[in-house]
Parts: sequence; C-alpha cells; structure tokens
Amino acid sequence: MDLIPNPESPNSDNASGPHLSVIGTASSSSTPPSLSRYESQKRRDWNTFGQYLKNHRPPLSLARCSGAHVLEFLRYLDQFGKTKVHTPVCPFFGHPAPPAPCPCPLRQAWGSLDALVGRLRAAYEENGGKPENNPFGARAVRLYLREVREHQAKARGISYEKKKRKKPPTRDQTPPPGPAGTTAAATS
Ligand SMILES: [Zn+2]
Repeated sequence: MDLIPNPESPNSDNASGPHLSVIGTASSSSTPPSLSRYESQKRRDWNTFGQYLKNHRPPLSLARCSGAHVLEFLRYLDQFGKTKVHTPVCPFFGHPAPPAPCPCPLRQAWGSLDALVGRLRAAYEENGGKPENNPFGARAVRLYLREVREHQAKARGISYEKKKRKKPPTRDQTPPPGPAGTTAAATS
C-alpha cells in the first residue's frame, strides 16, 4: 500500500512524487509488528532514503550523509503526513477533538518518524555503515524527534485515519457519551 500524497498539502507538487511507502504503517498501536513485516518495511524505508539521496541537489552520498541531512529528509516527509498538527494560533490548539476543520498543516506523526528513524538506523549499519558515523543516531536527530513529540502532544494532532465518523451501534446499548451534535463554536 502506497502513501498517497495529500492533495490538501500546501506544497504538493507531487506530479512525479517519489514512491513513498515509508510511513505507511502509522504506529499508533503498541503491538510490535511481526519480524518479516518489520524487515520488509525497513527495506522499503532504506530504498526510499536511497532514492532521496539520489535526487538530492547537490548530490549526496551516503558516506557524507549527516544528521542534518536526516532532518532534511524527515521534514521533507512531512508533506506526505496525515496527522493534523494545530499551530498555536489555531482555536483548536490543544483540542482533543476539534468540531470543525481548520487550515493547520498535516504532518508525519511523531510515532511514525520515531519508528522510521529506528529502522533506518538499523538498515544503515546492516548496509555497511559504521555505527560511529550513523547519521540516524545523531544527537540532532534525537533532539528533533523529542521536539516533535512534545509539540505534537501539545497540539494534540489527530490522525485523519482515525477521524472516521462513529455511528452508535444499536439503540439498546449504553448511549454514547460524546456530545455528537454539539454546534461548533467557530461557525460564523
Ligand atoms: Zn488547527
């Protein structure tokens, strides 16, 4: 399954977009995937990163790749993200379940990035890279991930995948607690 670039993305010039299945599995669950699945995901991620290096201007070899380039890569992936991250000026900033749409950007969820970096870090060494040179283990990358986590936790980003409308099952069950029909405060 490929990750479709989001059409609402502000800078989606994805006519010839890369083949991106990297963040296909949002890691919202804590159950570890089976080994073979992890391995194939890792291989796909590694290929995607290789592709990224190949298309990089100026050209960039793996050997010269630094933590800064990894950050560049992670930011580049944000345009394919599916997690709404509210900006501090958005009325829904910190809102766990916004009642209306807003123009805030979609990003890669922290959990996806964190898992991705872990896989690429392993792949780098499996492909002959030296641990001491591993750009995916760079301090800057760790700091960036921590920053993203804190920011997204504050903004309460909500994955679009999970935003499906819930229908209450049957009537004689316990009534759903949510205020389903609340009018949005921001309708004007
Ligand atoms: Zn927002």
